[in-house]
Amino acid sequence: MNTLLIACDFDGTITERDTLHLIVAEYGSSDLWNRIEPRILSGEMSIEQAMQEEFAEVRATHDEVRDLVLRDAGLRRGFPEFVRWARERDHRLIVFSSGFRSVIDEILAHWGIEGLEVVSHEALFSEDGCRLVWSDRGELCLECGRHCKRHDLRDRSRGERLVYIGDGVSDRCGARMADVVFARAQLADDLAADGVPFTRFEDFDLVRDRLDALSTLAA
Ligand SMILES: [Mg+2]
Ligand SMILES: [Zn+2]
Repeated sequence: MNTLLIACDFDGTITERDTLHLIVAEYGSSDLWNRIEPRILSGEMSIEQAMQEEFAEVRATHDEVRDLVLRDAGLRRGFPEFVRWARERDHRLIVFSSGFRSVIDEILAHWGIEGLEVVSHEALFSEDGCRLVWSDRGELCLECGRHCKRHDLRDRSRGERLVYIGDGVSDRCGARMADVVFARAQLADDLAADGVPFTRFEDFDLVRDRLDALSTLAA
């Protein structure tokens, strides 16, 4: 099989629990989300604006946030082996996240996973409230009307076959660009409802096995 570009979401995909939810639940204002959510669903507010408002209420130092996510995020089974497998086969595995680099780097380093390319936003934590720093995601996506992962995916592609692995709303466009999709949770329901083919996964051993099987078929 030719080498692949494997695009992998972080929160709820590499981790078992979404670190953004953990951080807001512990250090933010829990009812703020209930007030914001209807405004997102109605289109009055973008997800980025909502995140900015939510995280402004997060009063915690970087170290407090790190301790929380290292304790509670959990690493999904098979991910370190999956990283090694991809390297052995010269597949490019890149993390495309709508979360925050400093949090992602802390978790990956904690689990002994080094040298992985990560495309994400950033958060500057402080006891006075957290400030988000958005990466440049080019023009608004014509499909979803947001600054989604499509821009970064196009940017990184060298024309290989694209594998997408994800779990949530921020993965909708990426998954629809891919040749092979692994999905769980909300993304799986969303793709199923739209009739987009995908494989449901709960751990990376299955993803590895399926991709190995595909390469055997292609050989
Ligand atoms: Mg996710
Ligand atoms: Zn999009």
